[in-house]
Amino acid sequence: MALVSTKKMFEMASKNGYAVGAFNVNNMEITQGIIAAIAEEKAPLILQVSRGARAYASNSYLKAIINVAVEENPDIPIAINLDHGDTFETCKQFVDDGFTSVMIDASKQPFDENIEVTKQVVEYAHARGVVVEAELGQLGGIEEDVVGVEDVSKHIADPDQAVEFVERSGCDSLAVACGTSHGAYKFKSEPKLAFDVIAEIGDRLPGYPLVMHGSSSVLREFVDLINKYGGDMPNAMGVPEKSVSRAAKMAICKVNIDTDLRLALTAKIRQVFAEKPGEFDPRKYLGPGREAIKEMVKHKLQVLGCAGKASECM
Ligand SMILES: [Zn+2]
Repeated sequence: MALVSTKKMFEMASKNGYAVGAFNVNNMEITQGIIAAIAEEKAPLILQVSRGARAYASNSYLKAIINVAVEENPDIPIAINLDHGDTFETCKQFVDDGFTSVMIDASKQPFDENIEVTKQVVEYAHARGVVVEAELGQLGGIEEDVVGVEDVSKHIADPDQAVEFVERSGCDSLAVACGTSHGAYKFKSEPKLAFDVIAEIGDRLPGYPLVMHGSSSVLREFVDLINKYGGDMPNAMGVPEKSVSRAAKMAICKVNIDTDLRLALTAKIRQVFAEKPGEFDPRKYLGPGREAIKEMVKHKLQVLGCAGKASECM
């Protein structure tokens, strides 16, 4: 099976109360770790590429790696999404390069301008069978060149605007600011997600898929390993997994996870370096890093409720 769009996945996720994991890929080991997990757990999958990932690894390498993953897993539906496209031109490029989904993030622009550019991307993408994710409201934290707001609780998406945005722009899914944040230093204390907002939008747009960004939990075990083996990540904190699970049962159909991948890989590499200082074969530390990613993703698929759902999403 070739790459798919997110249409069927979101339809089933919405109907059956789970969310599909969207994981960012930057190299072969990260991709292989994710794929090994979804192959074992039989889950639908969204792989995401940011502009930063493409600048780092180049589109041809990333696409080649992803194509192998798709070929080797014919019974797993895999979508490939541009994460945080900033302009129509960027989105157009990724559509032309064979992505099955693109995100246009014009959330920093005024409401009407956000709708205008989203609409433009929707028209171009839909004509080529590609789906579009848009964003409304503002997240906190920093992810590559996406810099968020200081206090996320003051920038929660407005349900009236969300309904109007979807109707006017025609986007296929909407990332709504609901109290999450990018990066490893999301919060100073345990965050409260705006479940009331998710519920209200869900009621007013029945079956419509919402997306949660910045949803890594900043898993304690990895932060502790990093700090134990020479790292320095004090006060790292993410979104509790019980909140992610609760949102996944509601209108949230796609949950973005990047930071937890980075932490798993970094923690494992640090551990190998500390325990075997004579080791210089990259396979001996990237290999365990890849394994750590696989185990972490398997766990996430349980949190999201999408394990075992691959076949219904085909
Ligand atoms: Zn994001």
